[in-house]
Amino acid sequence: MPKQIAILSSTLTHRIAAGEVVERPASIVKELVENALDAGAGEVYINLEGGGCEEIRVADNGVGIPAAEVPLAFARYATSKISQFEDLYGIHSFGFRGEALPSIASIARVEMVTRSAAETAGICCVVEAGEVRECRETGAPVGTSLIVSRIFSEVPVRRKFLKSDLAEQGACIDAITRLALACPEVTFRVSVGGKPLLHIPGTDDLSERIGLTLGRDLASALVKAAEEKAGAKLEGFVSRPTFTRSNASQIYIYVNGRFVKDHLLNHAVMTAYRRIIAPRRYPAAVLALELAPADVDVNVHPAKLEVRFRYPREIYGLIVTVIQAAVGVTPESADHVGEPEVREGRGDYVARVEEALKRYRISTGTEKLFFTGYPRASRGEALVLAEPSPPSSLTEPLATGWALPEKEKKSEGEGGYGSLRYLGQVADTYLVFADATALVLVDQHAAHERILYEKLKDRTEGGAPQSQRLLLPEVVSLPPRELAFLADSAPILAEAGLEVEPFGGDSLVVKAVPSFLSPAEARQLILDILSDYGETDRRLPLTDRRERLLMSLACRGAVKAKRELSVAEVGALCRELDAFSQEVTCPHGRPVRLTFSVVELEKRFQRR
Ligand code: ADP
Ligand code: MG
Repeated sequence: MPKQIAILSSTLTHRIAAGEVVERPASIVKELVENALDAGAGEVYINLEGGGCEEIRVADNGVGIPAAEVPLAFARYATSKISQFEDLYGIHSFGFRGEALPSIASIARVEMVTRSAAETAGICCVVEAGEVRECRETGAPVGTSLIVSRIFSEVPVRRKFLKSDLAEQGACIDAITRLALACPEVTFRVSVGGKPLLHIPGTDDLSERIGLTLGRDLASALVKAAEEKAGAKLEGFVSRPTFTRSNASQIYIYVNGRFVKDHLLNHAVMTAYRRIIAPRRYPAAVLALELAPADVDVNVHPAKLEVRFRYPREIYGLIVTVIQAAVGVTPESADHVGEPEVREGRGDYVARVEEALKRYRISTGTEKLFFTGYPRASRGEALVLAEPSPPSSLTEPLATGWALPEKEKKSEGEGGYGSLRYLGQVADTYLVFADATALVLVDQHAAHERILYEKLKDRTEGGAPQSQRLLLPEVVSLPPRELAFLADSAPILAEAGLEVEPFGGDSLVVKAVPSFLSPAEARQLILDILSDYGETDRRLPLTDRRERLLMSLACRGAVKAKRELSVAEVGALCRELDAFSQEVTCPHGRPVRLTFSVVELEKRFQRR
């Protein structure tokens, strides 16, 4: 039962807020390397222990921190990068919120050694659980080095969400790669467990850096793309249509030097390649978009991964035109893949852009305080829209919040999955099991979806929903119709652990999400639910809408196909399957498992 209202202790509020910035070791690596780059380092050294889960070291030869300012660096909202509101419109550094160091120090032990050129001695400062434990003079070269250890030791729930060391290490390397591509002139040295892994010497040639970070094969498949229009400049490299990948992971887009994973920009890239590469194939691209800082709001996402544009339509058009010019797309060549009879006219292209912009508006809301607060000098000529190319659906892999026990226990009881031997994964999607009588294949996504669905159903039919409160509730702006629909559905959403409330005007606030989903996904969850509810579902009475909702939630929370699972993860999945569901299909009706009996195998091998 809640008691009196009381202000939370600062240790607690810091730890709460830290969850926004520090999701996993890779977020720490990103923040520390960004600080090194902001400090003008020419060289950055990174060492990871236990995939970054045990210890992360980042050392740079940047300007260092003057001794007197060292304790401030760990204070919340303390930054050397902006000082007044207007500075938000001219950000040239990665950091500016002064949140990273205090957040990291509130969930880990941080030892920082730093010296600025003006001082003869360095300072060693140890901060743990948000408290400065030690601060003393020490000999040190100019620059800064940080050792972060005991990561999440005080936040066991976060540790539980971490994947295998190898997966976390991969995410750390991804974070470094993104920054290395943004700053080719900086030398990066990366080691793992003290052993050198990467040496990326500084260069003024982006294509050389691409070769060293993304591989020579990819680099040789790229062509240069560049164009400047109406105050926006787009530059970089994009792959020839003959080179494609099975996912969008090789699309690197930077806005004013900052890596972003922005749906609108990715959509524009896919539009440019539509019809010249096969469906469900993706290009590679490293593109840098430079805009007047007042035309882009970077302060809209905790990890600054998404941005908002003052002129989204023009940016979209610029990307499409530049890429198509670079890869030599003409209306004639745009048809050699796909169905030639479906020639699209300009009208279809416009419809596609409108669809992308509509989605962009749904997720950004109508209010654009950032842009209305600061008028731009002149807009210049409007950018010319590119020639038509057909639509694509860009599906991005999303992190799944799948909490699993660290170690696999012995399977208990006979029958069920517990009595099967796990043999391995096929295509990172299908789990292979066998026993003396049969071969069993399980679709990991369908299986996990079924489990989550059953659990949710149990809860909505009596049990209390397991949800996690968002410590910083997420405000989502929506068109009135969508808003009304969600407000109306609020009781069934709450039963499933998703708490939403009207927030005045065109907004609603998400206060809690089901416990198996990451709070960072709250906004996307709302948008997905809206797109999953078809017109007919919306007209159903409240109780009948529940089914669709549970399906959306289960699908979103379930581990995706094409993800490597550890043996421990498979073990946990099996135990849950045994405990929760004998159902042989996922909620959408696809099979969870296929069983081939020995008899069946004998037939196939023509022994019978
Ligand atoms: P932000 O980067 O948003 O300013 P941080 O918490 O990451 O906030 O860092 C706080 C301040 O500490 C920075 O503004 C900067 O002055 C200083 N700082 C942090 N890391 C470094 C570094 N590697 N070299 C020099 N100064 C640093
Ligand atoms: Mg920073």
